[in-house]
Amino acid sequence: MTSAFVGLVGQEHIIEIIQNAVASARTGKESQEMTHAWLFTGPPGSGRSSAAVAFAQALICPSNGCGTCDACYSAKTHGHPDVEIIRTEGLSIKLEEIRELLTRVAWAPSMGGWRVVVMEDADRLTESAANALLKAIEEPGTRTVWLLCAPSLHDVLPTIRSRCRHLQLRTPSLNAVTSVLINSEHIAPDMADFAARVSQGHIGRAKYLAMKESVRSNRKIIMQLPLQLDSLAAAFQAAQTLVDLATAEANASSGERDEKEIEKLQEAYGKGATGRGMATGGVKATKELEKEQRLRSTRMVRDFVDVALLDITTFYRDIMVVQSGDANSIINTDMREQIEKHAANSPSHVTIKKINAVMEAREDLARNLAPLLTCEALMCQLARK
Ligand SMILES: [Zn+2]
Repeated sequence: MTSAFVGLVGQEHIIEIIQNAVASARTGKESQEMTHAWLFTGPPGSGRSSAAVAFAQALICPSNGCGTCDACYSAKTHGHPDVEIIRTEGLSIKLEEIRELLTRVAWAPSMGGWRVVVMEDADRLTESAANALLKAIEEPGTRTVWLLCAPSLHDVLPTIRSRCRHLQLRTPSLNAVTSVLINSEHIAPDMADFAARVSQGHIGRAKYLAMKESVRSNRKIIMQLPLQLDSLAAAFQAAQTLVDLATAEANASSGERDEKEIEKLQEAYGKGATGRGMATGGVKATKELEKEQRLRSTRMVRDFVDVALLDITTFYRDIMVVQSGDANSIINTDMREQIEKHAANSPSHVTIKKINAVMEAREDLARNLAPLLTCEALMCQLARK
């Protein structure tokens, strides 16, 4: 296997399709294997965008995606003139952004092969943006290949998905994730086992947990929250703790970057030059950037809360597993005692109700409901006996 695909754990079925498509693309003829629009779907962490990037590398690399040559490297790191990787920081991808993109990719590929656009969050396209994109996808005979990524088929407009060849990624097995952590990331077996288990096949999350002590200690605090829900006051407190942690994590990862962006923008408008302020438009541009940054930070808080809710789900999932008589397959082995106690003290239909409540809260978050309000409502439900 060529190495652009090495990171795609448990996705052999997809790698084969991609390699056939690339082989067919090399012949230069239109074919059944090679089409212009692809849609990668899969649960978070299954590697849908890594798969799309590997596809891009395979298309532009002289050796079908060796993973090591200049073309492979530059394709992955935004340095290749024929590969665009669109990563969204905001909550949506707007029409203007798609229009700009279409102007950029209107030219023939500079290297004579293919021009590839990887869009990591096709589920965030606004309707007008999606329609503009649709026109480009439908255009026959172009040398542009569109690789769209989304959590599921339902997250993409039917008009778009009907024009794409669909590739569904699988959640990799526990063993597959553990061995990647041990062999590629050199993580100790015990830690690899823990990280793989609690992140349930989400490779990115598993790596993050295995490598960062602060992420592990935050997870510990979050996993204690369901144990503290003995009153409504405690439920509100738990919601606050969760949102505070998410906000702190979001701030930690965006604070410095935000400042640098503003500095750079203002420099471009002449700030700091002797005796004069920013050129016309500088103040407005700064305000716009600040607005973008607020959007990005809101989205990060939501993302962190969502990961925390997934963690909390594993607690109730473990209770359900014990209640169904299978105490050996619990995820949170370090909480076995508390899990067994909860399992003994509440009927299984209540456990299922609680799992559903967490899932509904995640959906509410995805629909842009306020994180604190969503968490408060959830914790009150979880506090019920
Ligand atoms: Zn290569």
